[in-house]
Amino acid sequence: MYWEKEIETMDREQLERLQAVRLRETLERAKKSVHYGKRFAEMGLDIGGIRTDADVEKLPLTTKDDLRENWPYGFLACSRDELIRMHSSSGTTGRATVIFHTTRDIGAWTNLLARCMYMAGMRRSDVFQNMMTYGLFTGGLGFHYGAEKIGALVIPAGAGNSKRQIQLMRDFETTAIHIIPSYALHLSTVFTEVGVDPRRDTKLRLAFLGAEPHSEKMRRKIEDLYGFRAFNSYGLSEMNGPGMAFECPEQDGMHIWEDNYIVEIIDPMTLKPVPDGEEGELVTTTLLREGMPILRYRTMDLTRIIPGPCPCGRTHRRIERIKGRTDDMMILKGVNIFPIQIEKKLMEIPGVGTNFVIILDRADYNDSMTVKVEVQKEFFGGDLRQLEALRRRIVEELKSDILITPRVDLVEPDSLPQSEGKAKRVIDNRKD
Ligand code: AMP
Ligand code: ZN
Repeated sequence: MYWEKEIETMDREQLERLQAVRLRETLERAKKSVHYGKRFAEMGLDIGGIRTDADVEKLPLTTKDDLRENWPYGFLACSRDELIRMHSSSGTTGRATVIFHTTRDIGAWTNLLARCMYMAGMRRSDVFQNMMTYGLFTGGLGFHYGAEKIGALVIPAGAGNSKRQIQLMRDFETTAIHIIPSYALHLSTVFTEVGVDPRRDTKLRLAFLGAEPHSEKMRRKIEDLYGFRAFNSYGLSEMNGPGMAFECPEQDGMHIWEDNYIVEIIDPMTLKPVPDGEEGELVTTTLLREGMPILRYRTMDLTRIIPGPCPCGRTHRRIERIKGRTDDMMILKGVNIFPIQIEKKLMEIPGVGTNFVIILDRADYNDSMTVKVEVQKEFFGGDLRQLEALRRRIVEELKSDILITPRVDLVEPDSLPQSEGKAKRVIDNRKD
């Protein structure tokens, strides 16, 4: 039942010693990067003085902005010759944060994913259909390599094309899938449409749900619709991607692999650690990354450590499912979108006014985004075709940037609510 029993059930003291050794190696490597080399010097940090993970607080925090400012190679701790792969965060065609991996990095990440899927019950006898976008996004290749390492038969189906997905599942007797939860809901309606009952007419028994927040209720609903067990999978590209934290058969929190990451929960305002078990922002440090070590990364995800040991016997602590974000990032169909991206794009288009609002909805298991945009007065009362052309242009421009096709409604100037202070740009109406 364990992929690596010794590591997964290692006693806490030993695990902490392992972390301390790996942290020192990580710091030696990080120092070689332009970014940390500079930071350590500015702070006068003596990395020899960092001995245990209790000293972690002395290290600098790292944010997405740091990654952007050092784009593309400022975080590299090795020569480019040693790199074999690049990935990025989902959902932006602009300066996405990019992560580089060496051969050893990919090996360690692959192993983590194998550990996760094995923990949830996947075996070499399984047929695994990976329904995530392949490419720069980490959910495709990450899971793919992990499942191959277990020895399952992998169908690299990629995302979308629902009817074909169902066909593949039936023809090849798929038993396990990796899928975005909102897409799993949507796909169930396509099953109904084509007259196939996933409970009766497929061999599905396991699912890994990841890439976006979802409630316990939504998980149970998906399990009910399909008749399989679904496991929550959490990760972010900056920390490799999936494979970071995953549910065990207890389905009560996700074990976060502490042989690979140092885990902290901080108060996002004071940046100080919160008492054990309390909610805060997850901050993590890579312990086995060679090409691009990242220290104390502010994930902006809100969660807490679930106190006490897990009945499954694994000693790595568990985090609760993600509650929300400390920034304004939205996740739609697994794609990360920041309101600022939409704002920038809109402001480049002649005719667009000064205010806009983004509305997220879920109807018939389908998530959608509507952007209401104020346009300049001249466009109203004039040529309707001109208005329609502007609307189309906005749809196209937004789509090319955020990778999702929004619905765009044009409205008259000053018709959208004006907020005092910080504009409220997003209205999220999505419910379970
Ligand atoms: P990316 O870097 O594009 O992989 O996006 C990572 C972000 O997706 C995380 O910081 C989370 O906000 C979100 N995310 C990924 N997996 C989950 C999950 N299982 N539950 C909630 N949010 C998730
Ligand atoms: Zn467990």
